[in-house]
Amino acid sequence: MAIETVSTQTQVSRLRKGTWMEVDLDRILRNLARLRRKVRPFTRFMAVVKANAYGHGLVPVSRALQGKVDFLGIGSLKEASLLREQGITSPLFLFGRIFPDEAPLALQMNLVLTVSSLEEAKAISEVSVGLQKTASVHVKVDTGMGRLGIPYSTALSEIEKMVTLPGLKFDGIYTHFPQAERYPEPFGEKQLADFEKLIQNLRRIGISFPFRHAANSAGALRLKSTWLNLVRPGIALYGIYPAPSFEGEIELEPALSLKTRIVFLKRLAPGESVGYGREFITSRPTTIAVLPVGYAQGYPFHLSGKGEVLYRGKRFPIAGRICMDSMMIDLGDFTEAQVGEEVTLVGSEGEERMSPEALARLAKTIPYEIVTRLDPGIPRFYQTRESSSENLPF
Ligand SMILES: *Cc1c(COP(=O)(O)O)cnc(C)c1O
Repeated sequence: MAIETVSTQTQVSRLRKGTWMEVDLDRILRNLARLRRKVRPFTRFMAVVKANAYGHGLVPVSRALQGKVDFLGIGSLKEASLLREQGITSPLFLFGRIFPDEAPLALQMNLVLTVSSLEEAKAISEVSVGLQKTASVHVKVDTGMGRLGIPYSTALSEIEKMVTLPGLKFDGIYTHFPQAERYPEPFGEKQLADFEKLIQNLRRIGISFPFRHAANSAGALRLKSTWLNLVRPGIALYGIYPAPSFEGEIELEPALSLKTRIVFLKRLAPGESVGYGREFITSRPTTIAVLPVGYAQGYPFHLSGKGEVLYRGKRFPIAGRICMDSMMIDLGDFTEAQVGEEVTLVGSEGEERMSPEALARLAKTIPYEIVTRLDPGIPRFYQTRESSSENLPF
């Protein structure tokens, strides 16, 4: 008799009970192909996989993209270590900044680092020289985002000093737009003009960078002048539009579904209440289904009494407040519902679709938050053309 050696965690998630996610990696690859067709040929690509690949699962998504893009864009050393430990050898580009005592690890993992100041460049240079390594760095310039980056006004002189430091290879220069989804608009245009002027002035004094980049998904989709020679899309790869106005620009396929199962059913008489705060009072005899998912799993509390779910191909409303790890839905006269039946919280059933964009509008947030907040502990299952596989949370 074969002995079951997989962990109980694996066995539990294989049953696909409770709540789980399905991620279609082929859709991510097709979205990448569509983005590629949108920008000029030879434009280089960084696929942004920070924040657990926007909730889609860092390692499987990175594995699918590896070899198909020039860089994977990550947000932390932790993400870098997860990828390296799982055998991902692609160039990894770190957006955030590192502290000097993190530099040895970063160099050991061969990360491409962002530098936002002369002081940071010096610290990395010292460690790099000590380890007899060369660190690949991209200089970040703040042209108006007000976040990381050398302030535009001092960038020329700081970069001039930086490039003389030993142990560093200045492979790139980049900036970021705070409102690319509004393009075309004067603030972004001024940012881009400043950035290009800086690149020219640097070139005049003999400093040039192989990679020059500025565009996130919105920039890549709409503004040709932001492409420079590399684009850095994130959200669009996952099939989510950066803003509603982009729906006409490109066809994207959403890659993620969030599913659960009915765990309990009850019939309530008129005038009975459902959930905390008694915010939902039945006005007719109705069937209430309990689902094992709530705000602790990342489903927004702000969808209380507003959100809808898909069941048997139709939309049904959430009844009352969303609880910590459960919620109730109002199935009305649907008395034939069964415990154990599937319900879709994000994704489609037949003609109906519940998109992260639609949930974001209802919850008064942005689709980025909807997907990145999904609990990394929810089991994620991956579909590709060849296979359907499971991957436990990382
Ligand atoms: C997250 C991020 C991106 C990707 O942005 P999307 O809007 O998801 O395409 C690009 N560049 C930087 C610097 C980022 O932080």
